[in-house]
Amino acid sequence: MTRHITILPGDGIGPEVTKEARRLLEEVAQTLGETWTLEEALIGGAAYDQTGHPLPPETIAKCKASDAVLLGAVGGPKWDHLPGDVRPEAGLLGIRKQLGVFANLRPIRTWPGLLLASPLKPELLDGVDMVIVRELTGGLYFGEPKQRLDGGNAVVDTLHYTRHEIERVVRQAFEIAQNRRKKVTSVDKANVLESSRMWREIVQETAAAFPDVTVEPILVDSAAMQLIQRPNQFDVVVTENMFGDILSDEAAVLTGSIGMLPSASLGSGGPGLYEPVHGSAPDIAGQGIANPLAGFLSVAMLLRHSLGLEAAATAIEDAVLATIEAGHRTRDLAGHDSEPVGTEEMSALVRHEV
Ligand code: ATP
Ligand code: MG
Repeated sequence: MTRHITILPGDGIGPEVTKEARRLLEEVAQTLGETWTLEEALIGGAAYDQTGHPLPPETIAKCKASDAVLLGAVGGPKWDHLPGDVRPEAGLLGIRKQLGVFANLRPIRTWPGLLLASPLKPELLDGVDMVIVRELTGGLYFGEPKQRLDGGNAVVDTLHYTRHEIERVVRQAFEIAQNRRKKVTSVDKANVLESSRMWREIVQETAAAFPDVTVEPILVDSAAMQLIQRPNQFDVVVTENMFGDILSDEAAVLTGSIGMLPSASLGSGGPGLYEPVHGSAPDIAGQGIANPLAGFLSVAMLLRHSLGLEAAATAIEDAVLATIEAGHRTRDLAGHDSEPVGTEEMSALVRHEV
């Protein structure tokens, strides 16, 4: 089978981690006996430097014509002075918009062996394994009107959702839960927000089509507490844009290491966009010490959600686990008693296990 994957290396450590992710993809294709085309395209500061635009039309075209897109990271101090519409971050927002990816997935799990890096007590972290599904293209961040009123003495932001926008992301969450522990926690503020009351109704309607999945609606303030007090109760958490923004960063801290967090952004039918949660890390770029594992775990998500290769995805996750359990650490990971390994060495160790 031929698969087309576009790789967007971007800036900072982006090219360093996508280079290793590319090696991983090549080896997976080889193992499966398939020919995959892995094409690179420009985005972010690198694209601006070469073309004057952070998201050139060729990049958009290549991404749209592929089965999945893997992104490194964009941005850095070199481009911070640029006007908003040509800054690297505009390239990232642009590609999300172009691909129509409305559901942002962030798996949060703890890795035995890395628990020391978390601010929470190890006993609280046992068995933490959840996916937060955040609505990405609607709600308070996009609703109109959004402006100053009354000569600057009042202000309005608008939390707007259509039924369709809520239904598609909620359905996505139920589908993911079906392949996991079959539990959906829907986070809202239905005691005060009309939008949350409609959200809750739609969750209940959708639940009828997934009789094997249990659903639990909870209020966002309670969810924020529960994430710290009893994080292992969650399987799939689905919520609107702003709540998801806040809760996914809160949950990210549980794992203790940004270098281990992957993400996926999915739309309906078109290619998914996969990227590490971390940024371009300009402070360590070019030193060969970046942790490539958030990129590897993003590749696992790509195989699972865009290519339907569940076994290959699990094999990568198991290889990451085995490598961590064997005691290998990049510099960002706590608990190394010996010299930490670099980007290429960590990559080779994990690929050897796949
Ligand atoms: P952004 O604005 O894009 O989020 P940032 O600088 O705020 O960028 P990151 O780029 O994620 O955030 O970096 C935060 C810290 O984590 C930095 O000290 C960086 O070196 C470190 N870091 C991020 N990713 C990795 C990685 N893959 N390996 C090692 N350290 C990392
Ligand atoms: Mg930042």
